[in-house]
Amino acid sequence: GPLRFSLFTLFPELLLPFTQEALLGKAARQGLLAFDVIQLRDFAGNRHHKVDSPPAGGGAGMVIRVDVVERALASLPTPPDEVILLTPAGQPFTQRLAEQLSERQHLALLCGRYEGFDTRVERLATREVSIGDYVMMGGEAAAACIVEAVGRLRPGVIGDAESHRADSFSSGLLDYPEYTRPPVWQDETIPEVLLGGNHAAIERWRRDQALARTLARRPDLLPNAGLSPEDSRTLLA
Ligand code: SAM
Repeated sequence: GPLRFSLFTLFPELLLPFTQEALLGKAARQGLLAFDVIQLRDFAGNRHHKVDSPPAGGGAGMVIRVDVVERALASLPTPPDEVILLTPAGQPFTQRLAEQLSERQHLALLCGRYEGFDTRVERLATREVSIGDYVMMGGEAAAACIVEAVGRLRPGVIGDAESHRADSFSSGLLDYPEYTRPPVWQDETIPEVLLGGNHAAIERWRRDQALARTLARRPDLLPNAGLSPEDSRTLLA
C-alpha cells in the first residue's frame, strides 16, 4: 500500500504544493503515496477555533495547546506508526533517518507555529525531529523537507531506482559531478572519460570524484562511508 503522511498544521496551504506538484503529486495520484493535510484549528474545541494560549509563567508569544493536538491525532482512523514532532530541539534529520521512515506505512507530522507546542505534546509523539540548527517561523518547511526526502525513497516514486544509488549520503559519500550538453562551456570541457564509452573506466572515475569531493568538502563523512581498500588507496594518492 501507499506510504501515508498525515500533516497537522495551522497553515495547510503552505504544504499543499509539496503534496500535489511534481513527482510527489504524481506519486500520490498513482497511489504510491497518500497525503492528508489536517487543519489543527478544526480540533480547537471552541467557537473561536482558538488553538493557542499565553505561556504559563509569562513571556512573549503564544503556545499551542496539547489537548488540541490530542484531539487532532485521535481523529485519524488508525494510529500512525510514528508521530513526529517538529522542533529545533529534536534529533537531527539525516538520510539515515529518511531511509528508516520510508519503511513505515503511516507517518504523522506535527508542525508548530508561534512559540511552539506545550511541552506535554512530547508524550503524544514517538520522535522529535529538527531539520537543522536554525529557527524557522513554523514547522511546515521542516515537514516539507521530510516529505521530500522520505517520499522519493519509496519504490516507483522516482523513475529509475538506480538514481538513489549514488545520491549524496546514500552511498556514504557526496555524489559525483554530472555533465551534459554542451560539450564546451566557458572553456570548461566534459572530461574525456565520460565521452569514451568505457563503462568500467567511467565507474572508477565517478567513484574517485565522489571520494575527492567528500575529502575536500565533507571529510567528516569519510569514517562512516564504508570505503574499500581501493578507495583508501585513491584517497592517499
Ligand atoms: N521557541 C521554539 C524554540 O526555540 O525551540 C521555536 C519555535 S518556532 C518559532 C515555531 C515552530 O517552528 C516550532 O514549534 C517547530 O515546529 C518549527 N521549527 C522551527 N525551526 C525548526 C527546525 N529547525 N526544525 C524543525 N522544526 C522547526
